[in-house]
Amino acid sequence: MEIEDTLLMMPGPVPVAPRVLRAMSRPMINHRGAEFAAMYDDCRDVLADIFQTSNDIFVVSGSGTAGMEAAIGCTIGPQDTVVALENGKFGERFKDIAARYGQVDPVLCEWGNSFDLAEVEKKLENGARAITLVHNETSAGILNPAKEIGRLAKKHDALFIMDGVTSLGGDDVKIDDWGVDIAVTGSQKCVAAPPGLAMMSVSKRAFEAMDDMDRMPYYLDLKAYKKSADKPGTQTPYTPAIPLFFGLQEALHIVREEGMNARMERHRTEGVAVRAAVKALGLEMFPQLNEKSQYSNTVSAMKAPEGLSSDDIKKDMKARGIMIAGGQNRLSGKIFRIGHMGNAMPKDIMLTIQQLEIVLK
Ligand code: PLP
Repeated sequence: MEIEDTLLMMPGPVPVAPRVLRAMSRPMINHRGAEFAAMYDDCRDVLADIFQTSNDIFVVSGSGTAGMEAAIGCTIGPQDTVVALENGKFGERFKDIAARYGQVDPVLCEWGNSFDLAEVEKKLENGARAITLVHNETSAGILNPAKEIGRLAKKHDALFIMDGVTSLGGDDVKIDDWGVDIAVTGSQKCVAAPPGLAMMSVSKRAFEAMDDMDRMPYYLDLKAYKKSADKPGTQTPYTPAIPLFFGLQEALHIVREEGMNARMERHRTEGVAVRAAVKALGLEMFPQLNEKSQYSNTVSAMKAPEGLSSDDIKKDMKARGIMIAGGQNRLSGKIFRIGHMGNAMPKDIMLTIQQLEIVLK
């Protein structure tokens, strides 16, 4: 099987448009010059629309996890408590990062289950400095109630740190309305650029919180990102991954050409289509929803049918030229996931479902 013939239907990395790949092969430029400044400003403009924010936007060279660590490392000290919400692998990752920098008071849910907001509020009543949430928990295919968590964070004066890695650029994410202090996404997900960049928004309140930190990370110091970005010729503090920035800019132009409303609608429709197919194939969705949670619009997680491992389904699909994802960690073998994010088109969904039907027979 030629790698170039494999259709990536996993929740990142996603297929990258040929024009994005071409952009990445341009000769290098001076990252302290006007050309880079114009490119960075252009990226930040489109990202501000995607994030629906007037907060500062930065692009960090590093994957989404670097953005998660920057958010925690810059705001949480050894005595601070973080209420870390976990209902999947990436919520667990936020909890683990928070434990490296401060104290953690976790809200632990079965992976794929929904949070009880009363339990979350109870934890916040103990005076946490921050709360972490994964908006779209990729490992379980569940969309968590960011708006409600934002309301609770505000009520209890906690910083709201949100992973929007698989929602930003594909789904409706209202950073300012929801009061998200630090939000993170990764280039290889809904904006359909190559992996390697973390895009972040940071509020004034988050910067004020950084002022009373005794120690900040060095490479991931968000104040250094702000200082460099605020210069007249916008820069990053250290040498940026220039080819990735070329790719990101082109990918963001595609987002702008499609328009965020149309893009969100496409993701929603594709989610509905995959869920209808799941039902028609006699499969069961994995997430256990409550009235505040929803199925993800960018990745669908299904239980493997009785007697079949999801690893085998994944293997058979790969042999047919379609790469889907299995379950991660404790969900390995039990669930499989179809990514419908980035530039995945309805024809890609149709082909995936058609091949899945054959594999399951
Ligand atoms: N958060 C979520 C929700 C993700 O889906 C992922 C990656 O799949 C990450 C964080 C980690 O991002 P990265 O692998 O780019 O570090």
